[in-house]
Amino acid sequence: MKWVWRGLVLVLIAIAAVAGVVAVRTMTLRAPAAAAAVALPSAPQIDEAAAAARLGEAIRFRTISRTAGVVDDPDAFRALHAFLAQTYPRTHAAFTREFVNAFSLLYTLPGSDPAAAPILLLAHQDVVPVEAGTEEDWEAAPFSGALIDGMIYGRGAVDDKGSLIAILEATEALLAQGFAPRRGVILAFGHDEEVSGAGAAAMAALLRERNIRPWFALDEGMAVVLDEPTTGAPVALIGVAEKGYMSVRVTARAEGGHSSMPQADTAADKLARAIVAIRANPFEGGVQDGPAGALLDALGPRLGFMQRMAIANRWLFGGMIEAQVAQTGAGNAILRTTIAPTILEGGTKDNILPQEMHAIVNLRLHPRDSVESALAHLRAAVSDIEGVTVEPEGDPNEPSPVSSTEGDAYALLAAAAAAHAPEGAPVAPMLVLGATDSRHYVGVAENVYRFQPVWARQADLSRIHGTGERMSVGDMGRMARFYAQLIAAGAR
Ligand SMILES: [Zn+2]
Repeated sequence: MKWVWRGLVLVLIAIAAVAGVVAVRTMTLRAPAAAAAVALPSAPQIDEAAAAARLGEAIRFRTISRTAGVVDDPDAFRALHAFLAQTYPRTHAAFTREFVNAFSLLYTLPGSDPAAAPILLLAHQDVVPVEAGTEEDWEAAPFSGALIDGMIYGRGAVDDKGSLIAILEATEALLAQGFAPRRGVILAFGHDEEVSGAGAAAMAALLRERNIRPWFALDEGMAVVLDEPTTGAPVALIGVAEKGYMSVRVTARAEGGHSSMPQADTAADKLARAIVAIRANPFEGGVQDGPAGALLDALGPRLGFMQRMAIANRWLFGGMIEAQVAQTGAGNAILRTTIAPTILEGGTKDNILPQEMHAIVNLRLHPRDSVESALAHLRAAVSDIEGVTVEPEGDPNEPSPVSSTEGDAYALLAAAAAAHAPEGAPVAPMLVLGATDSRHYVGVAENVYRFQPVWARQADLSRIHGTGERMSVGDMGRMARFYAQLIAAGAR
């Protein structure tokens, strides 16, 4: 019986070894500490009330995007351009301004060292419309730019005239101090981000053509979330990648005919089975690496012992964490490519069996997938349903690559973000679930990040593109100081 004891001892040693690894990893889990390494120059004086008032003025120009390829009100854009030139004279004297695709604005301030890669700040001038019938639900009229209780109200207050005005407040304040950077500074303000981003695409093409390769590009996309759901505490989230976009048309074909004599398998049956099959085959998820892994690494040290243990030992508890994160729609969207059936169509009369029925399914592609691999995944899911095809619909966007969280550019951005987040709040990388203009600068700028230091609660997020969009006066000052420090430190 001696071999039984020997076996038991081996098992106990193995358990002890695993427990030891788990314990050591749990105790040594530390957030990646890049932020402290970069020293920031002090921010210039910013009159935040005046900056907020100027944001209110910018909101009054109805630079609305409704349809791709159509500028709804060209005069509104021209009036905004004139307002910017008049309001920020130092910037307009020092930078060259170019109109690209007629309404996008490209500003360039050369640096003293022409060999140094410039920095690139992005924002967009256009806004989404206000849904008809909801105007009365706003605390102030949606294009009033009114100030109520320390808040500027209006469409575009955050998305994205807040960034646009804050960037210009920053350059104006820096130039007033005699700012003369070593690196060039480029500002690119698109005019149709909300519908196609053609302006951004044209500006990116122009930079590429001129062989200008910015060190980093910074756009909107993420913010300081005061009540991040995992920790319940403030976190500055920096978007390091954004998901791709793709829709497909699922078609089910069958013999038509009179509904009094239906065959065993109708087009409706096939389409229903196809949708169930597609939804039952989710895309691969994962918390080991990628943006989700980096987010957990950054947040782990802030969490309780059990969660910390799980995060530090994802080799063992990865599946458990993934199942928990995937419980909410937003959590699941960070982990994987999502699948959303959005349109079902077919049939013309109640007594006719349709020969074809269709579904449109919208996918948001995680950086680990591609348009091609996603299409193959969907086709495989329905391969055993006869008469069902899956074809791409419209123009898909590939997911962006994931920008580095290790280099100097991220360290600088993390330091500036930390300086403008609540004391002690961690800075964490994040996957942006929507699309921004920044996707057009992938391959032009070395790194592409998405962040504005607005302090937002989760409950506030529905105001963006929704009812009651607003920016606090404090946030406006914070944003202007953030951009000023980032530009001064980045371009030195
Ligand atoms: Zn936007």
